[in-house]
Amino acid sequence: MPSNPVPDAVVDVIEPATEAVMARVPAADVEATRAAVARAKAALPAWRAVAPRDRALLLARIGAGVEAELEALARLEARNAGKPIGDARGEIALVADTFRYFAAAPERLIGQTIPVAGGVNMTFREPLGVVGLITPWNFPLAIASWKIAPALAAGNTVVLKPAALTPLTAIELERIAREAGLPEDVFTVLVGSGRVVGEALVADPDVAKIAFTGSTAVGRRIGALAAESITRVTLELGGKSANVIFADADLEAAAAAAPGAVFGNAGQDCCARARILVQRSAVDRFLELFVAHTKALRVGDPLDEATQMGPLISADQLSEVRSFLDEVPIAAQGRTPDGPGYWFPPTVLAPVTPDARAARDEIFGPIACVIPFEGEAEAIAMANDTIYGLSGSIWTRDGARALRMARAIESGTLSINSNTSVRVTTPFGGFKQSGIGRELGPDALNHYTELKNVFMAT
Ligand code: NAD
Repeated sequence: MPSNPVPDAVVDVIEPATEAVMARVPAADVEATRAAVARAKAALPAWRAVAPRDRALLLARIGAGVEAELEALARLEARNAGKPIGDARGEIALVADTFRYFAAAPERLIGQTIPVAGGVNMTFREPLGVVGLITPWNFPLAIASWKIAPALAAGNTVVLKPAALTPLTAIELERIAREAGLPEDVFTVLVGSGRVVGEALVADPDVAKIAFTGSTAVGRRIGALAAESITRVTLELGGKSANVIFADADLEAAAAAAPGAVFGNAGQDCCARARILVQRSAVDRFLELFVAHTKALRVGDPLDEATQMGPLISADQLSEVRSFLDEVPIAAQGRTPDGPGYWFPPTVLAPVTPDARAARDEIFGPIACVIPFEGEAEAIAMANDTIYGLSGSIWTRDGARALRMARAIESGTLSINSNTSVRVTTPFGGFKQSGIGRELGPDALNHYTELKNVFMAT
């Protein structure tokens, strides 16, 4: 338990584009967290007893409920997280898809029979129990749904602690789930700080598993706390991904796609391709194209349909991001609006050496480092010279080279001639200090179930 938890009674939720308070939400404390876990535990037997088909129908109804309110949820997310409305719509659509995808799961929790002597041997996928979810502010509802949907599909009950900066869409989802018919206490949202509510959740002996997305530093602390009670953990943590661009690539396409991959969500993206490694002979041409695209980015009001990049999430994040401009030459910067809001322009740093702080640390802001390399071997060494391994891209017209690179880069998700990272149907997660476990895709359910082996003598 935290040593001296002094919770705020109310969380002020700030709109980062205006710095105004947009909502005030009651905050949970340690007692409220324990009580929510106790209720989730009490709800387990009845939830496990719900027929797989009925659990499937419920999840599908939650997805449909999200879809029915897509526009309102997207506007709420856009305002609260400061993200462009078009991006927010895409994220809420992803939430609906995630519930639909995992709605197929309750009826496919299939075990095996294994040939043994003297009887029949069967395996079962059993739910874990109460699952605690702790999520970040950058893709608030999307990342929460990647955990809630498989956890519920497998027959667990869920207590979610969203980031205190962005709790509003999670609160709406709790209502939508209830209206869809989800029994009481099967899914609870607790708003509060990480030190108080988050740690109380991790330390609660009735929580069977913690699924966490956030920074590597907090992931390390959660892993250590969870080890005390051998609580299962999956950790989706930070990144410093490489976008490797060879001289034989379609440079126009690579340069047009690169801003979205590093300035998307104002750079507050664990998959941000923030290290742009460019083969030396193509650096000048790439920079010329990339800078032009960067300067053309429209930064402004998240609710304006034309906006491509919004503000940073908070004043703290803004001063953290600013601190990275100290040592490295700025090649180009975009423009930001005047007036209130946590604005930081899309910024290109070049030339950058691989040992600069901006090239090594996760900035979590709209700063791209352009770093030259000579050949394939150096590109692999540079791409892997990081504690992280979440995502990355390879741009080349040489297919064999693309596959050699994809196999050699130590990263959970790679794309070739593309910068995409996330699909509901494919696994997502990190190598090295980017995390433990995978979300989405066919393997996600394994992280929300225990494998049971039963032998019956015949
Ligand atoms: P954070 O680690 O500060 O917070 C994440 C969550 O943990 C929040 O809900 C917070 O309240 C809670 N928390 C904080 N301290 C805690 C503690 N001691 N015990 C329990 N819970 C605690 O991260 P953030 O600033 O919200 O998000 C940014 C980070 O998240 C970046 O590092 C980013 O790379 C990472 N991220 C990773 C992924 C991924 O899938 N790998 C996705 C998105 C974000």
